[in-house]
Amino acid sequence: MSKQKIILATSNPHKAIEIHDMLDGAYEVLTMADAGIDVEIIEDGATFEENALIKVRTIRPYVKDADAILMADDSGLCVDALDGAPGIFSARYAGENVTYADNNRKLLKALVGVPAGKRGAQFVCAVALIFPDGEKWTGRGIVEGRIAAALQGDGGFGYDPLFIAKESGRAYAQMSEAEKNAISHRARAMALAKEKMAEKLRIR
Ligand code: IMP
Repeated sequence: MSKQKIILATSNPHKAIEIHDMLDGAYEVLTMADAGIDVEIIEDGATFEENALIKVRTIRPYVKDADAILMADDSGLCVDALDGAPGIFSARYAGENVTYADNNRKLLKALVGVPAGKRGAQFVCAVALIFPDGEKWTGRGIVEGRIAAALQGDGGFGYDPLFIAKESGRAYAQMSEAEKNAISHRARAMALAKEKMAEKLRIR
């Protein structure tokens, strides 16, 4: 039997590989390009869940395979001392077309003088699914941690050098990809999605 297809509302092939692996290879995970979909997604939601739903809803009219599950994720870093910023604006915290280094610099600057005990933060990932019967579902994975006083480690991307996961006491950027993928916000959200898909496919 061929694997159930998931079409991801992303054009990032690395995300598709990462999600394929997080779902233990049980699904065929396609990007928009793999599925022949070329549409601009305007992420103007107020929450991670809204943005993830906007992504799957945007691609839905272009999906040719009626049996595919549509999936999107939206993630970001929420810092307690900044009232949850950068949150849904994590990618463009320092402005449009900025680098990860620009965002990290801005974050460190915003927290100058904030002591270790008050640098709590969460990495959040929301996943949205639309099933072939039209049912929509969202789930959220959260990892608690804190913002380091300076960049740590050289792995990963984005805020990885500044986010110290509570569970491991190390920055995401100090972990191997496998270590990070075992505990990350995205892995937690994907575990929930995996459970939901398994439950749904059993009753189909
Ligand atoms: P996206 O929704 O997965 O595209 O993530 C939006 C932004 O959040 C990224 O551009 C990063 O700045 C940040 N981000 C999300 N996940 C991670 C992560 O695992 N490590 C570091 N930064 C992340």
